[in-house]
Parts: sequence; C-alpha cells; structure tokens
Amino acid sequence: MKQYQIVLLKGDGIGPEIVTQAALVLKKAGEKFGFGVNFEEALLGGSAIDAAGTPLPAETVEKCKAADSTLLGAVGGPKWDSLPGEKRPEAGLLGIRSALGLYANLRPSMIFPQLRSASPLRDSVIGDGLNVMIVRELTGGIYFGERGRKTVDGAEAAYDTEMYSVPEIERIARVGFETARGRGKKLCSVDKANVLESSRLWRTTIARIGKEYPDVELSNLYVDNCSMQLVRDPKQFDVIVTSNMFGDILSDEASMISGSIGMLPSASLGSGKAGLYEPVHGSAPDIAGTGMANPLATILSAAMMLRSSLGETEAAEAVENAVSKALETVRTPDIWTEGTKKVGCEEMGETVQGLL
Ligand code: NAD
Repeated sequence: MKQYQIVLLKGDGIGPEIVTQAALVLKKAGEKFGFGVNFEEALLGGSAIDAAGTPLPAETVEKCKAADSTLLGAVGGPKWDSLPGEKRPEAGLLGIRSALGLYANLRPSMIFPQLRSASPLRDSVIGDGLNVMIVRELTGGIYFGERGRKTVDGAEAAYDTEMYSVPEIERIARVGFETARGRGKKLCSVDKANVLESSRLWRTTIARIGKEYPDVELSNLYVDNCSMQLVRDPKQFDVIVTSNMFGDILSDEASMISGSIGMLPSASLGSGKAGLYEPVHGSAPDIAGTGMANPLATILSAAMMLRSSLGETEAAEAVENAVSKALETVRTPDIWTEGTKKVGCEEMGETVQGLL
C-alpha cells in the first residue's frame, strides 16, 4: 500500500484544533481509497517561539523538505504581537514559503449551494454555485523588485519596479495550464498589457506556453476589466493566472464572493510536488480553545493536497463531496443558519469523516 509522509504544522490559536480534524479526514480518506498517511508534527510560529526561541526552527524546514507534503493551520496571536518583525510568528510563515521555494499560490473561491445566502452577490449572479481558482505568482514582480526613494525636482519621491523574467512567467504559466487541465480546461491570463511592458512580456510568454496545452482554452483580460467581471459574472471563470500584485488584490476580491472566511482553502506550490496547504484565514485567537472553530477550510486544503501533491484525485473529490453533504445538516457557528444543527470543530470533522 502506498504510504505518504505528511508534516503537520499546527501553529497557534485555532491551528491545532482545525489541523487535527483535517488530519483525521486524510487518514479516513486513505482507509477508504487504499493509501496510508503518516503524520509528523513540527513547530512553526508562536508555539515555535515559545518552545525553541525562533518562529522557524531549522528542524521544521528539514522535515517539510523530506515529506510528501505539509499541512499548516495558522500562526500568530496577541501574545507575540509586541516582538520585533523578524521574531514574530508571521516571519516563520514567510520563511517556510521561501525555504521551500513556493512560487505559486492557488486560491479557489467557491460557494457551496448550501451557503449561497452568505455571499454578497445576488442569486441570479451565483446561479447554482461557483468555483474560480486564482493562480498567483508569489515570489516575483513588484513586491520583490527594485525600490527606493530619491529627489525629483526638489521633492521627495519613491518608486517600486515590476519586473518578470521569461523563466518566472513560464513556470507560473505551466502551473496555470496544468491546474486548468485538471478542472474546466479554461485559463484566463490577467495583466495590464495595454500599459505595462512587463505585462506585454507576460502575455506573449503565456501564449507561447499555451501552445503546449492545446486542450486548454486560453483568454486574456486586463486587470481592471477582470476585477469588474469577477463580481458581474464570476461563473465565466475557471482558472485565472496572474502576477503577484494583481493576484493579491483579485484573490481577496474573489474570496469575498464566498462570504465565509472559514471555508477557504489554499495551496502554495514550488518546483517539487510537495507543496504547503493551509486555510486562508488566520489563527482566530478570539475563538481559540472554545472548540467552535470551523475546520472546513483546512479540510478543503487537505483535499487540495490529495489532488495536487499526492495525485489522489478520487479521494480529493470524495472529501469535497463529504464537506458539501455535511453542510446540509451541521454547521459551525460562523456559517450556522436556521434549520441546521450548530456543532463545534470536532463534530464537524467527525461528520465529514462519516460521509466519506
Ligand atoms: P483571522 O482570520 O484569524 O480572524 C478573523 C475573524 O474570522 C475572527 O473573528 C475569527 O474568529 C474568524 N475566523 C477565522 N477563521 C475562522 C474559522 N476557521 N472558524 C470560525 N471563525 C473564524 O484574522 P485576524 O483576527 O486578523 O488575525 C488573527 C491572528 O492570525 C493574527 O495574529 C494574524 O497575524 C494571524 N494571521 C495568520 C495567518 C496565517 O497563519 N496564514 C493569516 C492571517 C492572519
């Protein structure tokens, strides 16, 4: 039987509660679909600061590099808020992404039909549910470009530069096309090629890589148009691929469509298959320890891991279907509505396991 080694970075706040439930779902999916999952825990964030004096111990990086994949809860909390930047829990998060060379961030934005009322968009716009995947370049572009201050005509000025090399665009393009190939086979590349030179290189490079994927339909949109289309008619999109800054903004816009932060998973991928999977939300210190956290974003992150890193597509679909079915009867307080049973983190996890 195939055996997978998975590192669990439980982190802080609600992290341990939600990761525990997602790990149990992975274990159950393995029993059902014929593979074994072995877990190893490692420290990250505030809990690592308390235990080892650093938010990212070297041992954690080694364990993640050796594993088939990594599942992360969330880091941070008021206890560590007064520490200087590089010693804060969030430094551990940026550190592990960079140590693992994760250059692509995948964020699906979806609405389960059962949660339609949580979305700020009208029923007629959402239809029978929607699912857009944003593939964002994570380690290049203006956030990492040359920046500085200077004096222009006697006045203080500041600048940041957007730069992308062809290899950087090629590798994120391939993630976009591969992702689309595994879904609805439609890829929309978003840029600002009418104004920016870096976007013109982006567009021609994406088109060239597109020739390797004749089964995927490629379209292009300017970023301003895309931001409008996301709220006007989000169902037109399957996968969007875009630069670091445009992806930062568009993925937050798209995540609002779902209306519930406790439901949104994400994946960060690099050149290896391993990847790092985590919910979009933070450590929710306000509800940590109450047993009321919603584990579904983490469980859906585990489903992304099954699909993208472990190649267990059937198991991934089964987990997503189990989540959808669970929503018909049970809800954690953040997504609770009349007519469903209000449950805590553990019971929600057990319900999903039971439906697998
Ligand atoms: P947050 O996402 O932790 O919480 C925002 C609100 O959403 C809170 O009311 C919280 O109770 C609720 N919420 C979040 N996840 C939930 C879940 N699974 N179930 C039910 N309710 C949920 O954001 P914040 O309050 O701005 O940040 C809290 C801490 O988390 C900070 O220290 C911040 O730095 C950190 N943070 C970490 C990450 C990460 O680890 N990736 C991301 C964002 C914030």
